[in-house]
Amino acid sequence: MKARESLIVCEHCDAVYSKPQQLPYKGVLIRCTRCGASIEREQRLRPQAMLALALAALMVFAIANFYPIVDVELYGVHNTATLWGAIIAGWNEDVGAIAVLAALTAFFFPLAELLAATYVLWPLARGKRPRGFGDAMRLLRFARDWSMTEVFMLSALVAYVKLNGIAGLTVTPDIGLWALAGLTFLITLVVSFDHPRLWDIAAECRE
Ligand SMILES: [Zn+2]
Repeated sequence: MKARESLIVCEHCDAVYSKPQQLPYKGVLIRCTRCGASIEREQRLRPQAMLALALAALMVFAIANFYPIVDVELYGVHNTATLWGAIIAGWNEDVGAIAVLAALTAFFFPLAELLAATYVLWPLARGKRPRGFGDAMRLLRFARDWSMTEVFMLSALVAYVKLNGIAGLTVTPDIGLWALAGLTFLITLVVSFDHPRLWDIAAECRE
């Protein structure tokens, strides 16, 4: 434990450095001398602020999933499409593999990521180390690599623009699309949380 606390490993080329006791000033960026990648920046966010962002992301996630993304109008007939409606339609239209992939990357992995972040940060924000901290952090890291809300957001936008070009068809963005845009932004913030620092904070907390 002691050794880990005093070392920093470059995630990009595995070079190992000894860690300064305290970073010289707030917001300082440490670069790897071998590959030039940024390896540590003192994050200004406290666990309480990170928790607030994770909770906000969970709320926006619920809105993005339960409200329609677009409203489609064809010769006066209205129809709305939700994320799950699109996934189920894909499943029924013989593109099951894509539907499963969309369900995993646009729903289950982002949800797992946000739940793991909340599970870890809720006790940390109150100075307590969560039970199963290591497993939750590993789940957070795994889900982070597979959650692709931004890809889904981009596909929804492309579909929206393309469909609007068809005669007789009018597509208007609905509340779910705005929520999806907000979610993409919030998830990017959650992804940028400083994981090594969370380990350090947990090491100082009581069980
Ligand atoms: Zn490096």
